[in-house]
Amino acid sequence: MNSIIKTAAKIAEELSEPNEKSDAKQEGIQHTKARLGEVLENKWKNKVMHGQYIRNVDRQLISEEDTFLWLSKGDLKAGTESEIVAAQDQAIRTKYYATKILNTETDSKCRLCQQFDETIDHIISACPILVKRHDRVCAQLHFSICKETGVQLDKKHWYEHVPKSVETPGWQRNHTVESTSSN
Ligand SMILES: [Zn+2]
Repeated sequence: MNSIIKTAAKIAEELSEPNEKSDAKQEGIQHTKARLGEVLENKWKNKVMHGQYIRNVDRQLISEEDTFLWLSKGDLKAGTESEIVAAQDQAIRTKYYATKILNTETDSKCRLCQQFDETIDHIISACPILVKRHDRVCAQLHFSICKETGVQLDKKHWYEHVPKSVETPGWQRNHTVESTSSN
């Protein structure tokens, strides 16, 4: 009887061994992946140009995970994704980049306004010439959102639309009228 118990224990030990080994192996793989991720992130953050965006993400206001959520969806073409990431990493051949990093130009001023350094941030949000186009893009978005949410629009076309600082959707206006009349 004793020998049967001993044999059963030995078999059970042998059977459990491979699982323990594969669990340990899995843990090892996960640990190595996490460690590799940390090393790559630190390498990226420490790059003078490419690391600017991630260093400037204000973790109090922006979730580091959510800001890159669009990359995990896979909705864009690979070429478009890489262009956006290159812009975020300041790795697009602006005049500032050509002057300071590539040393192929001597003038770093914006080719449109010629007042400020031509950096990615300047092109996206600060150039006085481009800001007019930026405002029109926002006006088109505003027009579409108003239409979608039932806001009464004065103009028929988006390019005639001038956004107001506060809009009230139709359903909300009706609700206010109803509440007032029932009181
Ligand atoms: Zn400019």
